[in-house]
Amino acid sequence: MSALILIVEDEAAIHELLVYNLEAEGFRTKVVEQGEDVYPAISEEMPDLVLLDWMLPGLSGIEVCRMLRTRAETQALPIIMLTARGEEAERVRGLSTGADDYIVKPFSVPEVMARVRSILRRMRPEAVADSLVRGDITLDRVKKRVLRGSRDIELSPTEFRLLEYLMQTPGRVFSRAQLLDRVWGDEGEIDERTVDVHVGRLRKSLSRGREGDPLRTVRGAGYAFDERYGK
Ligand code: CA
Repeated sequence: MSALILIVEDEAAIHELLVYNLEAEGFRTKVVEQGEDVYPAISEEMPDLVLLDWMLPGLSGIEVCRMLRTRAETQALPIIMLTARGEEAERVRGLSTGADDYIVKPFSVPEVMARVRSILRRMRPEAVADSLVRGDITLDRVKKRVLRGSRDIELSPTEFRLLEYLMQTPGRVFSRAQLLDRVWGDEGEIDERTVDVHVGRLRKSLSRGREGDPLRTVRGAGYAFDERYGK
């Protein structure tokens, strides 16, 4: 499950360029063309980073940025502002509104990619790390391999994605519907019980005998990777 980048940009030529290049680098993307659509997009799935255009129809990028910073759940969300205004005063204003970085249009694609990667490495290391490590469990995204201690854990591709998704944010509880949406994606109509079946299999593969169970079942809510696991 790669990092999700939310692009808020009304100019199709620019958001298409960004989508193309970000996806080529393995990121997932979502585009909204106006500030008013940012919250609905975020409530569907919290992105790992927002590329936010300054000049938008309706709410401006600055207003959106301010809004994101005043709400608890998006206070620490990485934001890169895109703008044609390169003057020093505007730059300062952009950063003082709470953006983490600032890119002046016209930008070079490699520059945007470098900034995105650098901000994610700094602020969302788990979203771009080659491997996730919690206690004795290591999930290697590059080699597509899971180890518990030195033991190889054989997982199906779906179980791998499920574990990866849960391990990215230990402690956070995801409903079956959220997991279906983010792990299974567009595989058509799948019953929510499918999630239970896969979590069951994942558990069985991960834990042998008296080994601790890193997955939590939260009744009436869903599943989480136990944040106390390995602590
Ligand atoms: Ca614009």
